[in-house]
Amino acid sequence: MRLSNTEKVHRYIRRHPEQWKEYHRNYARNKMLKMNGHCVRVDKRPFYGTCEICGRDIEGRMAWHHWNNEHPEWGIWVHYSLCHQAVEAAEQFNVVIPIYSFMKKFIEEGGIP
Ligand SMILES: [Zn+2]
Repeated sequence: MRLSNTEKVHRYIRRHPEQWKEYHRNYARNKMLKMNGHCVRVDKRPFYGTCEICGRDIEGRMAWHHWNNEHPEWGIWVHYSLCHQAVEAAEQFNVVIPIYSFMKKFIEEGGIP
Protein backbone atom coordinates (compact mmCIF):
# COMPACT_ATOMS: atom_id res chain seq x y z
CA MET A 1 0.00 0.00 0.00
CA ARG A 2 1.31 3.42 -0.93
CA LEU A 3 0.87 6.23 1.51
CA SER A 4 0.21 9.78 0.41
CA ASN A 5 2.54 12.46 1.65
CA THR A 6 -0.05 13.72 4.12
CA GLU A 7 -0.43 10.21 5.52
CA LYS A 8 3.32 9.89 5.83
CA VAL A 9 3.49 13.14 7.75
CA HIS A 10 0.68 12.04 10.05
CA ARG A 11 2.37 8.72 10.64
CA TYR A 12 5.63 10.49 11.42
CA ILE A 13 3.89 12.81 13.90
CA ARG A 14 2.24 9.84 15.64
CA ARG A 15 5.51 7.98 15.93
CA HIS A 16 7.72 10.94 16.84
CA PRO A 17 5.59 13.40 18.78
CA GLU A 18 8.55 14.99 20.59
CA GLN A 19 10.61 15.59 17.43
CA TRP A 20 7.55 16.98 15.72
CA LYS A 21 6.86 19.38 18.57
CA GLU A 22 10.48 20.52 18.51
CA TYR A 23 10.42 20.97 14.72
CA HIS A 24 7.18 22.89 14.89
CA ARG A 25 8.48 25.12 17.69
CA ASN A 26 11.67 25.88 15.76
CA TYR A 27 9.78 26.52 12.56
CA ALA A 28 7.40 28.93 14.27
CA ARG A 29 10.31 30.61 16.03
CA ASN A 30 12.29 31.10 12.81
CA LYS A 31 9.50 31.89 10.36
CA MET A 32 6.57 33.46 12.19
CA LEU A 33 6.08 36.79 13.89
CA LYS A 34 3.09 38.22 15.68
CA MET A 35 2.48 41.77 14.48
CA ASN A 36 -0.51 43.85 15.50
CA GLY A 37 -2.33 40.72 16.57
CA HIS A 38 -1.67 38.86 13.29
CA CYS A 39 0.83 36.14 12.57
CA VAL A 40 2.96 36.97 9.55
CA ARG A 41 5.62 34.92 7.79
CA VAL A 42 9.05 36.39 8.27
CA ASP A 43 12.42 35.03 7.22
CA LYS A 44 14.33 35.75 10.38
CA ARG A 45 18.10 35.65 10.59
CA PRO A 46 19.52 32.41 11.99
CA PHE A 47 19.61 32.05 15.76
CA TYR A 48 23.06 31.18 17.06
CA GLY A 49 22.13 30.61 20.69
CA THR A 50 23.33 33.92 22.05
CA CYS A 51 21.71 37.27 22.70
CA GLU A 52 22.81 39.85 20.13
CA ILE A 53 22.69 42.66 22.66
CA CYS A 54 24.49 41.30 25.72
CA GLY A 55 26.33 38.40 24.06
CA ARG A 56 25.38 35.83 26.69
CA ASP A 57 23.71 32.48 25.93
CA ILE A 58 19.94 32.38 25.74
CA GLU A 59 18.66 29.37 27.60
CA GLY A 60 15.08 30.41 28.22
CA ARG A 61 12.81 32.41 25.96
CA MET A 62 14.23 34.50 23.17
CA ALA A 63 12.58 37.34 21.30
CA TRP A 64 12.91 38.52 17.73
CA HIS A 65 13.25 42.28 18.02
CA HIS A 66 12.51 44.24 14.85
CA TRP A 67 12.44 48.02 14.47
CA ASN A 68 10.67 48.58 11.17
CA ASN A 69 7.21 47.11 10.52
CA GLU A 70 7.84 47.42 6.78
CA HIS A 71 10.84 45.13 7.23
CA PRO A 72 10.11 42.65 10.03
CA GLU A 73 12.96 40.49 8.67
CA TRP A 74 15.38 43.16 9.92
CA GLY A 75 15.77 42.05 13.48
CA ILE A 76 17.98 40.68 16.19
CA TRP A 77 17.68 37.79 18.63
CA VAL A 78 17.61 38.98 22.21
CA HIS A 79 16.77 37.77 25.71
CA TYR A 80 13.00 37.78 25.97
CA SER A 81 12.74 39.98 29.01
CA LEU A 82 15.66 42.21 29.93
CA CYS A 83 17.50 42.85 26.67
CA HIS A 84 14.29 43.17 24.69
CA GLN A 85 12.96 45.75 27.14
CA ALA A 86 16.26 47.60 26.92
CA VAL A 87 16.16 47.95 23.11
CA GLU A 88 12.45 48.81 23.15
CA ALA A 89 13.17 51.57 25.67
CA ALA A 90 16.14 52.76 23.63
CA GLU A 91 13.85 53.15 20.60
CA GLN A 92 11.18 54.89 22.62
CA PHE A 93 13.47 57.39 24.33
CA ASN A 94 16.06 57.76 21.55
CA VAL A 95 18.84 56.35 23.67
CA VAL A 96 21.86 55.06 21.77
CA ILE A 97 23.03 51.54 22.59
CA PRO A 98 26.20 51.28 20.47
CA ILE A 99 25.99 47.55 19.66
CA TYR A 100 22.33 47.95 18.74
CA SER A 101 22.94 50.93 16.41
CA PHE A 102 25.77 49.00 14.82
CA MET A 103 23.66 45.86 14.27
CA LYS A 104 20.76 47.89 12.84
CA LYS A 105 22.95 49.70 10.33
CA PHE A 106 24.64 46.51 9.12
CA ILE A 107 21.47 44.42 8.97
CA GLU A 108 19.67 47.12 6.96
CA GLU A 109 22.58 47.12 4.54
CA GLY A 110 22.41 43.34 4.30
CA GLY A 111 25.78 42.93 5.97
CA ILE A 112 24.99 40.41 8.73
CA PRO A 113 23.53 37.05 7.74
ZN1 LIG B 1 20.73 39.56 26.48
